[in-house]
Amino acid sequence: MLSTDDTQVARTIELNDGTRMPVLGLGTWKSSLLPRTSVQGAVEAAIAAGYRHVDTAHSYLNEVDIGKALRSKMQQGIIRREDMFIVSKLWCTYHAPEDIPVCLNKSLKDLQLDYLDLYLVHFPVGLKKTGDELFPKKDGKIVTSDIDYVDVWRGMEALQASGKVKRIGVSNFSILQLERLLALCRVPPAVNQVELHPYLVQTEMIDFCKSKNIALTAYSPFGSPARPSELFREDTDPHKLLEDPVVADIATRHRCSPAQVLLRYHVQQGVAVIPKSDKPHHILQNTKIFDFSLNEEDMRALRGLDRGWRAMVLDEIKSHPYYPFA
Ligand code: NDP
Repeated sequence: MLSTDDTQVARTIELNDGTRMPVLGLGTWKSSLLPRTSVQGAVEAAIAAGYRHVDTAHSYLNEVDIGKALRSKMQQGIIRREDMFIVSKLWCTYHAPEDIPVCLNKSLKDLQLDYLDLYLVHFPVGLKKTGDELFPKKDGKIVTSDIDYVDVWRGMEALQASGKVKRIGVSNFSILQLERLLALCRVPPAVNQVELHPYLVQTEMIDFCKSKNIALTAYSPFGSPARPSELFREDTDPHKLLEDPVVADIATRHRCSPAQVLLRYHVQQGVAVIPKSDKPHHILQNTKIFDFSLNEEDMRALRGLDRGWRAMVLDEIKSHPYYPFA
């Protein structure tokens, strides 16, 4: 939906198989940490607001509730399956060849779907599988595996051949990892989903992906202010994008919110963006990014905020050879 475009920004992005992905999607990480019904309500509110792209993952532990929202909207005749672009991700403890379809099948069952529009390798580093733990630990430390992400990709290619996923892609891959994957793969990744915002501009990554026909999706567009600090950076971190005075000034001039400026920044560059919210008024506000445009000066000022700052660092595994943010 997200009907007409007044400012010459495409509402969809062309993928390398010629199909199109809605440029704005609903992020759902951490919705599961709130009361159980909130992610279902968020997806329902998002569909009512016109979103047709939902981003989730096995590791968000919320796919059952997202499935309920999708099923209910389909049963009400508000959407058809083919109207939606549903993205999920293979979690790091499922990198062994025999585990890859297990993770996908669990997501499909929980989401009550028989295919995904896009399935991503969540992170290039594998974690040792011990039961259902997302972050298996020994002596208090996360235990990684040494499975090569290129071998994981072969499993992803097999999933695509099975028809259960229409497209495959990656997340959190570095340029070097993408280059190695492209040199060895049969099916090139459709998407790399990475952290992107004015504090982490990643011009090289944007240019590289463009040159290789890999679409980019920006995660944590607001700097993930509510991320859990036990694994990622503290929320007391001084970097607060939504409160940045440069962003606030641009928002005042365009009579919109800082959040809208931060979202518009991506879609104007042809990058998809997946803000998370479980508040209907934020969910709706985040769709209103197609009726104004940032001028060159605004874009320059936003890019000028770059400080190579990441919300998502997973410091604990940074010595692994496949750690992507070295
Ligand atoms: P975001 O940067 O999207 O920030 C979400 C926060 O912003 C929430 O606290 C939300 O609060 C608030 N917010 C949303 N809209 C507004 C608004 N209009 N005004 C003010 N505050 C607002 O964080 P995420 O880290 O969740 O990133 C987005 C999505 O990206 C994830 O949910 C997930 O789907 C994906 N992701 C992927 C990763 C990967 O490794 N591939 C890693 C991290 C994220 P409220 O809910 O109260 O509105």
